[in-house]
Amino acid sequence: MRAQVLLFPTITAYGRLYCAPRRLHRYNSSSSSQFLNLSLSRFSGGLFFHMESGTSSSGKKSMVENLKRYGVISSKRVAQVMEALDRGLFVPVGSSAYVDTPVPIGYNATISAPHMHATCLQLLEDKLQPGMCALDVGSGTGYLTGCFALMVGAEGRVVGVDHIPELVDMSIKNIEKSVAASLLKKGSLSLHVGDGRKGWQEFAPYDAIHVGAAASEIPQPLLDQLKPGGRMVIPLGTYFQELKVIDKNEDGSIKVHTETSVRYVPLTSRDEQL
Ligand code: SAH
Repeated sequence: MRAQVLLFPTITAYGRLYCAPRRLHRYNSSSSSQFLNLSLSRFSGGLFFHMESGTSSSGKKSMVENLKRYGVISSKRVAQVMEALDRGLFVPVGSSAYVDTPVPIGYNATISAPHMHATCLQLLEDKLQPGMCALDVGSGTGYLTGCFALMVGAEGRVVGVDHIPELVDMSIKNIEKSVAASLLKKGSLSLHVGDGRKGWQEFAPYDAIHVGAAASEIPQPLLDQLKPGGRMVIPLGTYFQELKVIDKNEDGSIKVHTETSVRYVPLTSRDEQL
């Protein structure tokens, strides 16, 4: 029980940087510490967390197994892609790759927690079939962009956009080390510097649009660049945020539903973010 009381505020503190969906609060104390792969010890009167760092095939396998066990992943394709693309290559050296928490990546940004990546992949799965076209706004480390690319394959098209040039450079380097490298080389995956609120017109319209930062309202260019029959997943709100799923019907009308409460960094200007 002690682990539960102590663990959740820690997650919430990280979550202030990015997201802490309520779903996480469902886990009980023993399974939480197992799921988070943490061991706790007293350190200077506080808690000290020992976490895995670096890359490890057993680490990513157990991360995916735990996401399956707790009902976050039900799709085989999503499980396969998250196992194939090693999160250890995308987090800063020395940070915990396979723990279910967001990790700071500099520039007031974070890589999302694995359960958030899994949730978004599942929501978009039907629109990430081989040959389809996807846009990832606020691509950060490039992890989710890489997952999209593996799902749509060489016949598909995936574009990542982030407004911090250093993050875009880093995401390209990350992808180059990963199983998605050949897709980047062949050009079916590309990462660009730009204001994601404007989308990326060059390859529009998109079957799937993911926004990795919270907008105060849905940017009109993103709605315009969504294909009829396409789906967008976007966190909306400022302090209180909800993950919205937006489906564009064939006649161009829009249907919106709320998936869960979340906590993301804002979709904003570069100056505001830095
Ligand atoms: N999906 C990424 C999340 C990164 S955090 C990952 O898991 O690695 C959110 C990202 O949104 C940050 O990298 C930030 O730089 C970016 N961002 C915020 N506002 C933006 C904007 N207007 N245009 C493009 N990127 C933006």
